[in-house]
Amino acid sequence: MLNRIALNLIALGFTLLVVFALCREANATVLVIDPGHGGEDGGAVSPYGDVESNINLEISIKLKCLMCLFGDAPVMIRDTDISIHDPKANTLREKKVSDLKNRVSLINSIEDAFLISIHQNTFTDSRYSGAHKFYNCDESRPFAELLQKRIRNHLDPTNTREAKKVPKGVYLMEHVNCPAVLAECGFLTNLRELEQLRSPSYQLKIAAIIASTYLTSY
Ligand SMILES: [Zn+2]
Repeated sequence: MLNRIALNLIALGFTLLVVFALCREANATVLVIDPGHGGEDGGAVSPYGDVESNINLEISIKLKCLMCLFGDAPVMIRDTDISIHDPKANTLREKKVSDLKNRVSLINSIEDAFLISIHQNTFTDSRYSGAHKFYNCDESRPFAELLQKRIRNHLDPTNTREAKKVPKGVYLMEHVNCPAVLAECGFLTNLRELEQLRSPSYQLKIAAIIASTYLTSY
């Protein structure tokens, strides 16, 4: 039963992708996919040792593959488990700062970019779960709101979160010049959601919803 639902969801996702890819205009923006963290900076860690950067990368690679399938050529900030810091950075802190600055430079060098930055959440209380989307400006707000709504409708009806303006202090989101959405895909500290986030089929569903939302928006 669950497998049939999953197959139907994936089939629906692919149908949406085909329809909207065919409807797109030629002057579409360039999708930049940023799998958060990488290399020595694994980001958040679940209570069972799952490293955020790996899940970010798995979802991002699936998103890239889906976009390529429909003739898009997204830019990936990283497609392996690396940090993109300068060689002269020594300490972990220096490497994290340098990595973020290099990500911003790369993103700001791309004309007509639209950034989606993939991350996972954690919280001290394991009851909390649910994907949450954040936008950096009015231009990316509709995409974040639509994505949040589609995640709720197609993946997690219990998720009552609303897309929000990114809080102060998120360096990457504050320094990029393009419209950007921070996609927190779920909580590593909630066991039910963690098990979903570990699963390649759930990662694919998240990627399919992001891809179809992008294709309908740009
Ligand atoms: Zn993160």
